[in-house]
Amino acid sequence: MNDATHDPELRSWVKTANAPQADFPIQNLPFGVFRRAAGEGGRAGVAIGDRVLDLHRASELGLLGSDQALLSACRAPRLNELMALGPSAWSALRRRLSQLLRGDAPGEPRTAEALVAMADVELLLPAQIGDYTDFYCSLHHAINVGSIFRPDNPLMPNYKHLPVGYHGRASSLVVSGTPVRRPSGQTRSGDAPPSFGPSRSLDYELELGFFVGPGNRLGTTIPLARAAEHIFGYCLVNDWSARDVQRWEYQPLGPFLGKSFATTVSPWVVTGAALEPFRVPAWERAAGDPPPLPYLDHDADRQRGGVDLNLEVYLSTAAMRAAGQAAVRLSRSNARQLYWTPAQMLAHHASNGCNLRPGDLIASGTVSGPEKGSRGCLLELTGRGSEPLELPGGERRTFLEDGDEVILRGYCAGPGCARIGFGECRGVVLPARAD
Ligand code: MN
Repeated sequence: MNDATHDPELRSWVKTANAPQADFPIQNLPFGVFRRAAGEGGRAGVAIGDRVLDLHRASELGLLGSDQALLSACRAPRLNELMALGPSAWSALRRRLSQLLRGDAPGEPRTAEALVAMADVELLLPAQIGDYTDFYCSLHHAINVGSIFRPDNPLMPNYKHLPVGYHGRASSLVVSGTPVRRPSGQTRSGDAPPSFGPSRSLDYELELGFFVGPGNRLGTTIPLARAAEHIFGYCLVNDWSARDVQRWEYQPLGPFLGKSFATTVSPWVVTGAALEPFRVPAWERAAGDPPPLPYLDHDADRQRGGVDLNLEVYLSTAAMRAAGQAAVRLSRSNARQLYWTPAQMLAHHASNGCNLRPGDLIASGTVSGPEKGSRGCLLELTGRGSEPLELPGGERRTFLEDGDEVILRGYCAGPGCARIGFGECRGVVLPARAD
């Protein structure tokens, strides 16, 4: 439900939060983890304009009330404790932060003492991420990719009955800005014997991620009707993929080394509360599509399970940066084009009694739309390399080259609403190791 924290007229005394294109206005208040110097522990923070409100400091200054569980969570080096507290604690904190940051001047003068410049801090992964699960929930992506690998049978028979997913690798999750080393792996082209070497088909995947809030005990489930209460917030995910490795290794058990070398996560977690004004109906199934089974069907999710979130991919090559050229946009899509909602992914994930834990990361799968300019990875954009992209400086790309930087951006915008930005999810490709 929208409340006073969503009021589009609200302004902050942190002036940079009021710029029309700001990612982090006072209506957003995303959470992250930062440190001021190498070697320091992480500190929980909230983005406001170009500043970070240090939650540990704010709690020491007595600005965050007296709820001991909440204060402890705000002093923790990662967000897991806060994620575990659940929606009533989250909304109490959101209301308090909104009060502290609104107006022409701080009502609580000491609030300014808890602000640090975002440019002066290093952003870290927001949570200790115990498990990472990747879904495959964009129908357009599934059809496009399926057509490349299995032209006669693009969509598997299960696709419209359940959110297809696999268990990803948590240890190689990295925060935005971390360089990504080109992986080496085993590939096979045609009937030639397999060989081992640097991937020649390195790709990105534009995905929506979300963090689990309160978990479920092993052997219990999360009903779809309660799933939203178990989602703390959302982020951008680049699920880097070595397509040549993936293509040779994936059958019959699914993605493995073609995926597990790195996955990049944006540092700011945009809460479910901040996205309330942008909830939209779930994907409307075509006549003839099977209805979801009862455990994947709920009225509220059908009406408000989607999110109207614009997603963009930009590319900056080493030559473009050397020439002072800006990054070029490769595609735009929208999270409302997902066939399955985040709540359906979560309910399905726990439907067998698998325990999800606070801070677990779940990603949607590549988000692609119906048009060519909305394809969320190079595999789709270039038809597996058969239609190279022409870049403004005259370069061409089929897959990523060393020195290429991929930048994901996301934002919600609409009439009568403050713009809610996700910031960026960046990573530059380093050459494969020589050894
Ligand atoms: Mn993926």
